[in-house]
Amino acid sequence: MATFKALRIDKAEKGTTAQIAQFDEADLMDGDVTVRVEWSTLNYKDGLALTGKAPVVRRFPMIAGIDFAGTVEQSSHPDWKAGDKVVCNGWGMGETHLGAYAEKARVKGDWLVRLPDGMTAREAMAIGTAGYTAMLSVMALETHGLTPKSGPVVVTGAAGGVGSVATAVLGKLGYHVIASTGRAAEADYLKHLGAAEIIERAELSGAAKPLGKERWAGGVDSVGSNTLANLLSMTKYGGAIAACGLAAGMDLPSSVAPFILRGVCLLGIDSVMCPIEKRRAAWSRLARDLDKSKLTEITSEISLDQVAGAGAKILAGQVRGRIVVKIP
Ligand code: NDP
Repeated sequence: MATFKALRIDKAEKGTTAQIAQFDEADLMDGDVTVRVEWSTLNYKDGLALTGKAPVVRRFPMIAGIDFAGTVEQSSHPDWKAGDKVVCNGWGMGETHLGAYAEKARVKGDWLVRLPDGMTAREAMAIGTAGYTAMLSVMALETHGLTPKSGPVVVTGAAGGVGSVATAVLGKLGYHVIASTGRAAEADYLKHLGAAEIIERAELSGAAKPLGKERWAGGVDSVGSNTLANLLSMTKYGGAIAACGLAAGMDLPSSVAPFILRGVCLLGIDSVMCPIEKRRAAWSRLARDLDKSKLTEITSEISLDQVAGAGAKILAGQVRGRIVVKIP
């Protein structure tokens, strides 16, 4: 029986365990495409799954990892044939469906996006779910009508994965980006990425007033809680905030004042069940609107064996930019 190397999550007496194991190919779940995984990545949600800090994993044993890039090995799906280069993220991978930290994955062909021309599998995972979510957020702001002429945009959790890509993309598109970070030492990094101004995370983490001084026309928030409430209360008339994360918490201690007195919109961003057309659009925009040299600068690399240990680091907010995982 063929086996392959995978990072396996099992239920333990207390919580869960994460360890490298040989996985039987016959135990892969249903799907019409089998992919040789070449690169994966470490996202915040992976940190939650690896450490067991939140109930991300819904089936045991589970192969962790919510996204991969690789090459199709076998397919009975009309859109895909052996040799095709693909990207996959979300759809329950690493949660209810066996995930990406493995040499092989079997998924539905309908979940896959073709690797954009000129983008390598490693670059796709340097972007990963975090970067693709940043692009979904930018696209939502554009659909709302935001342009660089509307005024400044704020990015929170700016030195993290979503924040770094959002800062780089918005900067390249010509926006005046205000980057909020708790790591003063990352100010130069953020300016180089495309931030015009840096503000202290603490400025946005206290209790929010119903309405504050109007400071930005839009924003990408990966932090949630008081930070999102403050973003809303300081958004200019008619502006919008794309909410995609919860690094500080799931709550939203806000009021309706920004919505009913300033016409501010709160745009919800979900990457997991996002329809395929929007995914294709986001990946092709990333190929165009994210500077490759900047992507290289925000990316560090680890091996599959190092992933389990890196989970706690991302939850502690200690990861700068993006981490790619080389699959053997
Ligand atoms: P990272 O850990 O890379 O980035 C999060 C950043 O948030 C940190 O780097 C830090 O930035 C900041 N931060 C961390 N803790 C706190 C805190 N207590 N208060 C304020 N700021 C904090 O994670 P990702 O970028 O991968 O993900 C960010 C968020 O987006 C997560 O909550 C994740 O679950 C969510 N997400 C949601 C998706 C969706 O589908 N909606 C998809 C992908 C991610 P700094 O040091 O600069 O302040």
